[in-house]
Amino acid sequence: MICLGVLAFARPGVCAGIELSQAERGYLERLGPVTLCVDPDWTPFERINEQGQHEGIAADLLLLVSRRLGLPMQLVPTRNWEESLQASKDGRCMALSFLNQTPNREEWLTFTEPLFTDSNVFITREEHPFIADPSSLSYEAIVLPEGTSIEERIRREYPNLRVLTVATEQEAFSLVSEKKADMTMRSLIVAAYTIKKDGWFNLKIAGQLPNYANALRMGVVKTEPMLRDILNKGVDTITPMDRGQIVNKHVSINVQTAVDRAMVVRVVAIALAVVGVVLYWNRRLKQHNEELERRSQTDTLTSLPNRTRIDELFLTECSRGERYGRPFSVIMLDIDNFKRVNDEFGHQMGDKVLVATARAARDAVRTVDTLGRWGGEEFLVLCPETPEDMAVQVAERIRQVIAATAMGTGTPQTISAGVASLLPGDTPDALLQRADAALYQAKRLGRNRVCAA
Ligand code: GH3
Ligand code: MG
Ligand code: MG
Repeated sequence: MICLGVLAFARPGVCAGIELSQAERGYLERLGPVTLCVDPDWTPFERINEQGQHEGIAADLLLLVSRRLGLPMQLVPTRNWEESLQASKDGRCMALSFLNQTPNREEWLTFTEPLFTDSNVFITREEHPFIADPSSLSYEAIVLPEGTSIEERIRREYPNLRVLTVATEQEAFSLVSEKKADMTMRSLIVAAYTIKKDGWFNLKIAGQLPNYANALRMGVVKTEPMLRDILNKGVDTITPMDRGQIVNKHVSINVQTAVDRAMVVRVVAIALAVVGVVLYWNRRLKQHNEELERRSQTDTLTSLPNRTRIDELFLTECSRGERYGRPFSVIMLDIDNFKRVNDEFGHQMGDKVLVATARAARDAVRTVDTLGRWGGEEFLVLCPETPEDMAVQVAERIRQVIAATAMGTGTPQTISAGVASLLPGDTPDALLQRADAALYQAKRLGRNRVCAA
């Protein structure tokens, strides 16, 4: 015999909160431990594990009753449920742990109030709609293990359903999963447990059979009605929270929640994917726009700011210099006799000279200056905060650097430069015209030189 772990309560009937009469206490003392038979193989409700211990939902509920009453119980192990029923008939055990009350069983048993009430639910494949009213289903096939009380009831009350029978509950699940039947029926707890444990992932609980729940009680041999009454006092202490905690412990998924969770995961995943794609495209678009803008402002040959950009910067610097009375100078550069390069070495060499000149000029200017391609073989340098004499020095440096740079034509390539500075009341056009005039002057004076307006 194996104890249920409650033998620590040496004196029956002295547990806090439960009032037992003198007669009841005396009765329990005389009775000794309550011998108990169970279903050894009815997971998750109950089973006898490898260590010979009673475990499962029923075991935990009985443990509460036993502890709260201070009533020791002793497990009488059996190999199957039939043997348990027989043992209770033979008087080898006083109580059965967890069973439905039926007229047949009432012949030798008396029953406590329900320890647990479990509804019967429809199990369908995932895609089946929720069954609010089974009588509204039109000739769908329900598969059930043969000879159960549920089969009788379905046939009687739901003639709109086509009943198929199989030998085992396992087969019933298979038929539904394989689309050979539309649904089966099972206790909610067992269904949730089996779907999870056996991995019937295309099945779900789709509704419940109205007004038909399994009220699972303790059965006590008829000869011990006082034991039944005492057990009822213990059963009465079981709260919905107790039951909830125990069920959660043994059936770790709530099927409806599991379905919802899967749905939530799917919705969140889709939402994240959409957000991800949108963010990705926004980034791509932004990069694309930035690239377009950069290209629209850059000269493709020399990679310098193009005419549009340098014009824009020029106007900005003009208005800044004008408004704050700050010095601002420009240098207009023009490659000397560039036409000859093209003529003698070809247009490609001309392009190379343009690129090399642009690079040399860029290296020669200060960081505060901006060099841009003005057009053809002409460049403009913007020199903010720079009076004319300093701009002349900058221009001279550029001229010297370029003159000293090998351009691949065999002969030195020179430039001429015209420098002009912003005057009070100046217009941008007037400033440019003066720079242009200074450049023209440099050309006229023999090229390869810097002139100021
Ligand atoms: P100057 O010293 O008086 O400035 O003489 P120049 O030959 O440099 O001036 P001109 O205005 O007579 O000739 C400029 C040449 O620059 C004509 C044109 O074909 C060439 N050119 C303008 N843009 C480009 C270009 O992008 N690539 C090449 N290879 N040549 C260009
Ligand atoms: Mg020119
Ligand atoms: Mg030229």
